[in-house]
Amino acid sequence: PESVLLERRVMSFATVQEHYFQTPPQIERGWQHHLVDTRGRGYLDMLNNVTVLGHGHPRLAEAVHRQWQRLNTNSRFHYASVVELSERLSALLPDGLDTVFLVNSGSEAVDLALRLAWAATGRRDVVAVEEAYHGWTYAGDAISTSTADNPNALATRPAWVHTVPTPNSYRGRHRGPDSHLYGPEAVAVIADLVRSGRPPAAFVCEPYYGNAGGMALPDGYLEQVYAATRESGGLCIADEVQVGYGRLGSHFWGFEQQGVEPDIVAVAKAMGNGHPLGAVITRREIADAYRSQGYFFSSAGGSPVSSVVGLTVLDVLRDEGLQDNARTVGAHLRTRLLRLADKHPLIGAVHGSGLYLGVEFVRDHETREPATEETAAICERLRELGVLMQPTSDRMCVLKIKPPLCLTTTSADVFVDALDDALTHGW
Ligand code: PMP
Repeated sequence: PESVLLERRVMSFATVQEHYFQTPPQIERGWQHHLVDTRGRGYLDMLNNVTVLGHGHPRLAEAVHRQWQRLNTNSRFHYASVVELSERLSALLPDGLDTVFLVNSGSEAVDLALRLAWAATGRRDVVAVEEAYHGWTYAGDAISTSTADNPNALATRPAWVHTVPTPNSYRGRHRGPDSHLYGPEAVAVIADLVRSGRPPAAFVCEPYYGNAGGMALPDGYLEQVYAATRESGGLCIADEVQVGYGRLGSHFWGFEQQGVEPDIVAVAKAMGNGHPLGAVITRREIADAYRSQGYFFSSAGGSPVSSVVGLTVLDVLRDEGLQDNARTVGAHLRTRLLRLADKHPLIGAVHGSGLYLGVEFVRDHETREPATEETAAICERLRELGVLMQPTSDRMCVLKIKPPLCLTTTSADVFVDALDDALTHGW
């Protein structure tokens, strides 16, 4: 029956929505950072960057159940939870970011963030970062330049999208000690746009580089690029969809790590722990500018059920100290991965912070030739060993380590031991 279901999936589901594995386990249920397939086999979920609280959280399940029984409607009606969630989000952000839009996904959040910038500045051009992913809607797709996600990304880019080099400090134009050159290079792109009479409406990027497997931006990068954007009259958009909500351990938001304050913040994924929920938070005058030039209403965005999900996720994150757990377990995991790097030359680098980590595999430490096939084989071997992991980056040579934030030290050790085995026997 499992193979029949797989065939039915191929027949009924659009092929662009590929599943993770060559022979994917049929998942039936989950608990914390564990998943169980229909044969009763358990897996460590090391790649789920949405379910921050873990799978099957009883507090969330009960809160949703209770709210569904009581009421669900849309935010044109007046009820407490949507107000409370908006206030809680604003309180987590710098002063001035006090106006909230509630949507259903990261793609919607980024799309709306761009629309707000267009409305507030009266401009159209946008500066984004190469090799990024920001969503699948028209605007989000336009600024998503990752060719791993979309091979046509660069060829189909509309004229209003301008890119700056991806600020990758491990590879690319300015690696290692030269990575401080990425900032001035991005500033020069903005200056060129200003000179050519097309100053940008916005600069948009992830404040911690997701597609590289969780890599810090070079020190001072956002400070320089945000300053240039603002000087030109543009707005700074932070895509916190993947990195935000405590995953870094050291900070709740990615932009805090760079010491900057954005004008518009897009949030999703962790915010709903898997329930469709996202938000855009901005300043009042930006939201008001949009009111006179654009339309926004979301039938399910900020519904009573979604709002209760958002509030419960924040409560559980706080009560269970999950950001702290991401910091301590993440530090332990990182240390063990670095030790593994001494043993296995295939490991070129360990990126990231907290439970937003990446292990990059290379065939040669000097040329940094990506070990793409090896990474795929290692992920298949890890699955056989009961660990779910996937490659990321445009070169598909980085392990995407983004487990639920309830990961334990014991499970982190199980993962590292399995990776050690896969690196020894797996490719
Ligand atoms: N921005 C970033 C940085 C993301 O990682 C994603 C999802 N991978 C999105 C936007 C789009 O979010 P969603 O899948 O919820 O539409």
